[in-house]
Amino acid sequence: MRTSKEYESFVEHPRFGRCPRITGLNPEAVYGGDTFLHWHSPRECRIPNTAIRADLSRQTPATVAVTHYFDVKRQCRDCGRPFIFFAQEQKHWYEVLGFGLDSDCVRCIECRKIEQGIARLQERYAELFHIVGRTTEENLEMAECSLSLIETNVFNRRQSERVRMLLNQIGPDHVKKIVRRRDAIVKRLIAIESSEA
Ligand SMILES: [Zn+2]
Repeated sequence: MRTSKEYESFVEHPRFGRCPRITGLNPEAVYGGDTFLHWHSPRECRIPNTAIRADLSRQTPATVAVTHYFDVKRQCRDCGRPFIFFAQEQKHWYEVLGFGLDSDCVRCIECRKIEQGIARLQERYAELFHIVGRTTEENLEMAECSLSLIETNVFNRRQSERVRMLLNQIGPDHVKKIVRRRDAIVKRLIAIESSEA
């Protein structure tokens, strides 16, 4: 068993932590045998003694089923940090969420959350974009969405002009709550525009 020191730099998973979960199960896939491991779990990624058994009846049908999941070491595609794709997570992906065995985990949990947040923002932005005669609240929300998408480099910085246009649609004599939100948007806008130089 390795010491946990090796995993100090690993991204922490909110449920499983950052160290492997030792089960003592360590099946080997040998030619002609009845153990099948995932193609994304080659020996160099696999953490010994972390296997759990798969429930083949719950996996989506594949040419070759997977009989055991191992904790595997991964490097995040976005932030470059190491993380563990836990055997328990794999079981959840392939047996509960219905993901095909061809899907792999390439981002750490933190980057996955960011990605999901961005997807939600993009969806909401598109919704707001298509509303004819947006209310002040909706204009503010759309401005906030745009800013977040600019800040995460999903939108081009030129989109900040659109944010200014949205702000211009908000009259000067509004309630305090609206004014505060608008001021916060202006602050973020200035930060974006001044970092352009
Ligand atoms: Zn990451």
